Amino acid sequence: MNRQRRKDFLLPLGGEQSFEPPVPPQSLMVGNVPSQESPEQVALAAHRDARQLVRLVQCPQCSRPLSAPATLPCGHTVCRRCLPHPRPRANISYPNTPDRLFGLACPLPQCGAEHAAAECNVDVTLSKLVELIKAEMTKHNPSTHATPTQLEEILQCDDSMAMEEKEKMRDISNQRVLHGGRLVSTFTMAEIGELQYGSDLVYHTLSSTGDDYQQLDNALLDRLREVAHKELDCLVCYTLMMDPTTTSCGHTFCRRCLARVMDHSSICPVCRRDLHIPASLQNKCSNALLNSLLNGLCPDLVAARAAAAEAEEQPGDDTLTTPLFVCTLALPTMPTFLHVFEPRYRLMMRRCVEGNRQFGMVMYNRTSAPQGDLGPTQFLEYGTLLEIVNFELLRDGRSFVETRGVGRFRICAHGMLDGYHVGRIERVEDLSLAEEGELEQRETTSAQELADQFQRENPDAALPADIALNLHSTQNLLDSCMEFIRQMRQASAPWLSARIVSVYGEPPEDPALFPYWFASVLPITEEEKYVLLRTNRVRERLKIVYSWIGRIRGQRWPSGNACSIL
Ligand SMILES: [Zn+2]
Ligand SMILES: [Zn+2]
Ligand SMILES: [Zn+2]
Ligand SMILES: [Zn+2]
Repeated sequence: MNRQRRKDFLLPLGGEQSFEPPVPPQSLMVGNVPSQESPEQVALAAHRDARQLVRLVQCPQCSRPLSAPATLPCGHTVCRRCLPHPRPRANISYPNTPDRLFGLACPLPQCGAEHAAAECNVDVTLSKLVELIKAEMTKHNPSTHATPTQLEEILQCDDSMAMEEKEKMRDISNQRVLHGGRLVSTFTMAEIGELQYGSDLVYHTLSSTGDDYQQLDNALLDRLREVAHKELDCLVCYTLMMDPTTTSCGHTFCRRCLARVMDHSSICPVCRRDLHIPASLQNKCSNALLNSLLNGLCPDLVAARAAAAEAEEQPGDDTLTTPLFVCTLALPTMPTFLHVFEPRYRLMMRRCVEGNRQFGMVMYNRTSAPQGDLGPTQFLEYGTLLEIVNFELLRDGRSFVETRGVGRFRICAHGMLDGYHVGRIERVEDLSLAEEGELEQRETTSAQELADQFQRENPDAALPADIALNLHSTQNLLDSCMEFIRQMRQASAPWLSARIVSVYGEPPEDPALFPYWFASVLPITEEEKYVLLRTNRVRERLKIVYSWIGRIRGQRWPSGNACSIL
């Protein structure tokens, strides 16, 4: 059996070593989520669908052509100036950055959520597109008044409206004679603020020959398609965006491309800003407007792109691609040192080093407890993907391996390959920051209500532990943990010796990572620490380690892990 290398043993770096950049294993790649619109949609026609085409670049809030459009986390787009002023958000402390502690109420009634101000930035692709479209519209606006069309606005009526109200709406609806064909005249009407976003239009040509200027519309739409097409390429794969997904920094990629990038990085591939989104992009909305533009302007290209992507995905599906090392608990971002001597694992390590340098670390299932759908397997269901940082091969074939945790996973299926386990894994990711914020808000608010009620009924009693725990803000939980570390250091706790800190580093101030560090240095059983691999909430992880501190302070640690070591 192999064992975890002594934690205080650091491998000497073998001089200048260069490794190939890690490539995410195929099993970690996230399949494309179908776009919101049906790819079989027919292209919008210049003349017939002029009203619909112009609506694509109208702001649903102010009804003017979009200006500095911002795409919100709900996937909707409005002008930046149409966003309400940010306000401090109640009961949210994580992440502790000013732009996340402020939120704004989504102006769109179909959403109604409170979005973090940090996530409401100008959409780079749409800004450029809208400017190009405006420029083409201006170019095609005729200087002579020789192509008149009468436009009559039909305001949207609610079925519940009384007849009188409907008639009143007819009175306030706009009528205009404008020039240059339906597309240009409709756009002009929106520009002068006389066309509500939801309104329809009736067109009457005023041409003496009965010409309805269809050719003008067709020529303009061809030109619009041409200019738009150049902007609709993904900045990762350089082909037409497939299910465009916009990041908080305003950059847009195919959903699948962004997922692949996020699998091994947390920064935007264009502007390198930190993104904080789960690699699976779970619950991340697509850019609704870009999807509509793609499907409205070039549905044939969208369909061809989707078919090509699907063909690409076929091979390698459902294979057991991740080698599994059954040995010890490893944690994300933390180092794990291994001494490998069993022949089957020597083979596995050699293959890993020649391949993408990654493998999964899982713990033994000592109690043979059933592991979800897998049943009572030899190993536990959740593990950590490790990346080889340093590999030292001894002459007798044994090796010392220094690794770092990349991310957590759950095993979906497993088998054997040349004596070692292999699996199909799915990533375990934290909730999005928006969901984490909602969770904190909900938990602390309801704990406060319960605490008030309890204190009214039992003025002299101490609060029940669960209520007291939930009262803490996420930042507060981290601060308390940090304070505990400071106290333990002052008391010269041996598990915080300089040697251990030199291996695991100083405690991270990121609440998402602190629990992994704390679990790495704290001398408690691996089974206790294992629960950290299963939760996908930062706040939950902090509560777990906070409860460990409570037990250490209360000297209520189970036997075998006596507090005397502190
Ligand atoms: Zn919204
Ligand atoms: Zn607007
Ligand atoms: Zn792409
Ligand atoms: Zn960016």
